Amino acid sequence: MSVVPRQTVSFDNQFARELGQLAVLWQADDTPDPRLLVLNESLAAELDLDPSWLRSPEGLRLLTGHLVPDGATPVAQAYAGHQFGGYSPRLGDGRALLLGEVDDTAGRKVDIALKGSGRTPFARGGDGLAAVGPMLREYVISEAMHALGVPTTRSLAVVGTGRSVQRETLLPGAVLTRVASSHLRVGTFQYARATGDTDLLRRLADHAISRHHPDATAAQNPYLALFEAVVAGQAQLVARWMLVGFVHGVMNTDNMAISGETIDYGPCAFMEAVDPATVYSSIDTGGRYAYGNQPGVAQWNLARLAEALLPLLHTEEGQAVELAMGYLGTFSAQFASAWSSGMRAKLGLADSVSADVVEPLVAELLSLLQDNHVDHTSFYRQLSDAVRGDAEPARSLFVDLAGFDAWAGRWLALNPRAERMDRVNPVYIPRNHLVEEALAAGSDGDLGPMARLLDAVTDPYEERPGLERYAEPAPADFGRYRTYCGT
Ligand code: AMP
Ligand code: MG
Repeated sequence: MSVVPRQTVSFDNQFARELGQLAVLWQADDTPDPRLLVLNESLAAELDLDPSWLRSPEGLRLLTGHLVPDGATPVAQAYAGHQFGGYSPRLGDGRALLLGEVDDTAGRKVDIALKGSGRTPFARGGDGLAAVGPMLREYVISEAMHALGVPTTRSLAVVGTGRSVQRETLLPGAVLTRVASSHLRVGTFQYARATGDTDLLRRLADHAISRHHPDATAAQNPYLALFEAVVAGQAQLVARWMLVGFVHGVMNTDNMAISGETIDYGPCAFMEAVDPATVYSSIDTGGRYAYGNQPGVAQWNLARLAEALLPLLHTEEGQAVELAMGYLGTFSAQFASAWSSGMRAKLGLADSVSADVVEPLVAELLSLLQDNHVDHTSFYRQLSDAVRGDAEPARSLFVDLAGFDAWAGRWLALNPRAERMDRVNPVYIPRNHLVEEALAAGSDGDLGPMARLLDAVTDPYEERPGLERYAEPAPADFGRYRTYCGT
């Protein structure tokens, strides 16, 4: 006799309850033949969910939106957004549902949401569905980002639906269960502002403050303090992206979270050869969201948030603009400071080394890396061997050997620490060719490559024998990599 595990899951519906005007009550489509493809057991434990229950038929009903737990009120959230600079007044969750919020074992309130759960009133021309490949991509990249210490939404599970999804070809469908500090976006504020209902906007801001920045309540101007906290969070976040070589790919204002977490993994990828112009997304033909443009785009998006918040910042618009611009103007310096201290750590340099020495050294390094098409991740990791007496692993990545030698001589004279470097420079990132390999196999029902890739990238700093291929850049015949959005 098999024992049916029991589980109580108690949900809240704070968003649906407090911000009903920004939500449509909705339910998931049926799932003809649910099959668990990946389950995040350690995240399940953080949520106090029993993995064996999640694997049971009842657990799968939760992960596909058919079991509505006590207290949950599934909704599709409304939001607007600037997409590639053009404003869309009504986007919203076209294929996603917020089930509700739960408290994790650390007492933090998090959203549990589904992606690929069927059409909603926001679906416009879309089918409301998601294919296995892109949901596995979100799973592996978000979990790698988490392991790299980059704030991000998490992935609890991917469940195959048994339904086909029409893209260029027919593909197997899936639902991803996402766990996030919240799903409040810059676009949520844009939507609330556009309703003209300042009370709604204020309640949204109060909700954001209570969930993410409770200290703002005590500030003289809590809404300005909220804006300040979001600016600071994004400066930190985008600096972390840049330090690991992450290209988000679609930094529309609806894909920027107020929580400061990376959200909406679509055409994202990790840069290999260093080049600020790196773009992977097939639809980003102008390079708006290229690697090197990300800090500027984040600031642009924050200006859109400021516009949305103006009525809360001051009763006189001119004064409100002045207050918002004051904080927005600090973004560049905050980004630069987060980036510089991250680069100092990557290069193993002590805080006592003067910025006047480190800054030109970093600038020179970046142009050497770019000119020599050096792999971002391999370079920083292999550089620590130079401290241990063997410069060859890093040196061999360059064509301009004299250029590297001159740079390395200056750097070594600053007494870098190899252990400090190895703590922040990963060995394993989700390399594009390995992600594609895992997604292709996973779509064909073989989850082995996905499991092995996850094993490497969720413990990224510890070099392990047998995982050599996970540390190597794509083979030359992998070609110019392209990712596809919203599929
Ligand atoms: P994204 O590019 O994934 O951030 O999505 C932009 C907008 O398109 C959001 O409003 C999504 O909910 C919506 N969307 C993306 N794919 C689909 C789909 N297959 N069906 C319905 N809506 C979609
Ligand atoms: Mg999105």
